[in-house]
Amino acid sequence: MIPLPRRNLIAMGTAALAAVTAAPRLATAAHPFTQPPLPFAESALAPVISAQTVQFHYGKHHAAYYANLNRMTENTPYAAMSLEEIVVKSAADPRDKGLFNQAGQCWNHDFYWKVLTPGGSRQPTGKLRTAIERDFGGFDKFSQAFAARANAVFGSGWAWLVEDGGKLALMETSNADTPLAHGKRPLATIDVWEHAYYLDYQNRRADHVDALLKTLVNWDFVRDQMTTQ
Ligand code: MN
Repeated sequence: MIPLPRRNLIAMGTAALAAVTAAPRLATAAHPFTQPPLPFAESALAPVISAQTVQFHYGKHHAAYYANLNRMTENTPYAAMSLEEIVVKSAADPRDKGLFNQAGQCWNHDFYWKVLTPGGSRQPTGKLRTAIERDFGGFDKFSQAFAARANAVFGSGWAWLVEDGGKLALMETSNADTPLAHGKRPLATIDVWEHAYYLDYQNRRADHVDALLKTLVNWDFVRDQMTTQ
């Protein structure tokens, strides 16, 4: 990759700067960037997500994004940045779309594995429960809306619960795009790229999303991503 002209490094918009500030701190080590360890055994999410799916998703897809990120940032100014900074700065320059795709997918997957946990925590508690009742009219309505958003993503992408201006909101992103690039704070996500479910559910994305939401979400982690009280 050609080293970036200096003006790219200082060309950050207000929204992008806000996103860096708002970004949960997941992985901040500089080059070479290290894929965080999977927080559970490959088989721990079965039968909702099989060991084979996790093996390919974490061990091949996610790992490849990290390999590409390291290759593309080596000997560039990006090598000294945190992953969050790379995501936000590469999103701001169309010439860095290729790097953004790799960095965004690294960050999105780091976050995705933290949202999932064997057995889930079943129900949101505390301030998350209060906010869901306030902004969605209850957990059942929220779950239906989150699932509908995930099922509506056309092609590869992600469905997100975000904090935006002190309120909860749902959004979807295509391909590697991420709420970080839009100044919003991610709280939860569902990966709806086919590699996330096709070995287990083939074309039945809705069944995968339903099972994931009912049994695998770590709502305590989601709650702890909130900045509001
Ligand atoms: Mn994925």
